[in-house]
Amino acid sequence: MNRDVPGNARSTIGVWLLIGGIVFVGTAIAVRRSSIVCCAAPSSCSYFLREIDGAKDQWAIEKGHKAAEPAVKSEIAQYIRGGIPLCPAGGVYSLNPVGRNPTCSIGGAGHSLP
Ligand SMILES: [Zn+2]
Repeated sequence: MNRDVPGNARSTIGVWLLIGGIVFVGTAIAVRRSSIVCCAAPSSCSYFLREIDGAKDQWAIEKGHKAAEPAVKSEIAQYIRGGIPLCPAGGVYSLNPVGRNPTCSIGGAGHSLP
């Protein structure tokens, strides 16, 4: 008579394990994504520099450009949604050659990559 109860309990645990697994995988993906652009506010100059740097790296890998080759702004802009961002304080970005960090003309804390 009571045989249904353990069966139901087992399938309930199975469902929760499945949900837990999905949540775990989703969290793992979210953490991996956020770690790529960690540590800076999403509208700050240093965040933009990091974004440009990532786009430049991707561009260099995909197009086969090696270290010290000049960056092509118009091509790299295609790797960033909305194109190359503008420094919120009015600084001008220099993309710099492959293998070097992009820089902001203002420089210093908040306007440079570590
Ligand atoms: Zn700046």
